[in-house]
Amino acid sequence: MRALRLDRPGPIGDAPLRDGPAHDPVAGPGELVIDVTACAVCRTDLQLVEGDLAARTLPIVPGHQAVGRVVAVGDRVSGWASGERAGVTWLGWACGRCRFCRSGRENLCPEAEFTGWDRDGGYATRMTVAADFAQRLPEGFDDLAAAPLLCGGVIGYRALRLAGIEPGGRLGLFGFGASALLALQVARHWGCEVHVRTRSSSEQSRALSFGAASAAGYDEPTPALDAAITFAPAGAVVVAALRNLDRGGTVVINAIHLDAIPPFPYDLLWLERSIRSVANVTRADATEFLELAAAIPIHAEIENYPLEKANEALGRIHRGEVHGAAVLSIGEAAPGQKT
Ligand SMILES: [Zn+2]
Ligand SMILES: [Zn+2]
Repeated sequence: MRALRLDRPGPIGDAPLRDGPAHDPVAGPGELVIDVTACAVCRTDLQLVEGDLAARTLPIVPGHQAVGRVVAVGDRVSGWASGERAGVTWLGWACGRCRFCRSGRENLCPEAEFTGWDRDGGYATRMTVAADFAQRLPEGFDDLAAAPLLCGGVIGYRALRLAGIEPGGRLGLFGFGASALLALQVARHWGCEVHVRTRSSSEQSRALSFGAASAAGYDEPTPALDAAITFAPAGAVVVAALRNLDRGGTVVINAIHLDAIPPFPYDLLWLERSIRSVANVTRADATEFLELAAAIPIHAEIENYPLEKANEALGRIHRGEVHGAAVLSIGEAAPGQKT
């Protein structure tokens, strides 16, 4: 098999991911081996590759939104067979015994292992996944279209739920990348009025074309929001969201790594406004979101790159040049391959 490995984090301009052969993985007890056909590229991968997110183990193969076909089934696996399509998400494993796991919050499990951070991920032709954490994917999405749903889509959905937005409510999205585009479609499906704030004028147009009620720069005020989600990895954007929040509203920060949040007057938080982060996802989040995505149906805008161009795809995310989601097509099963 082949993999793109990170030996040492560094600026993306230096192409830190190294392309090369790797040992074929074997399916341990409880594991599947899958032949990867598509893996979407997440901003978290960029933060890991550049060192903003500290590596937990090196070398590591990044990639936590992978789709492929099962080619080997380990001992003590039930419910999976060779040839079946499987999806791999960020939550690679959780203990199942701690108080978080036992209360439906496996995303907070202190022993959790994450794909592409603790376990080798999908920037490879082959990978292993704990069978209990592999996802079934709806038929309506081909491999390339399904991949970006697995992190950007699922985390956006969890953020919407934590924000407490009700059908018909007024929602703000601050920062507008792949995840926000998917969250916008869910919120519109729920009948919410959505206001998008982002620096990029092309992203503003895209938001309007997907049904946003308004789209403008961060300084442009919105009508009073019931809830807001921030996607930009900048603390100042959290304050921008808070400024537009109605009393009782919540700002959810969708970022694993964030700059310092600048000081702000307590008046912005007063009257039961709250700020919270969204961390990781549960299997239930993924299952619920994938069903919803198929029912809507959600449209994932993708830019397709061959596996060996992962450094280039990450560079384009770094420069804000990717529209929708960057997806690596891997092996021969990826349809419509182009660069
Ligand atoms: Zn991600
Ligand atoms: Zn646990």
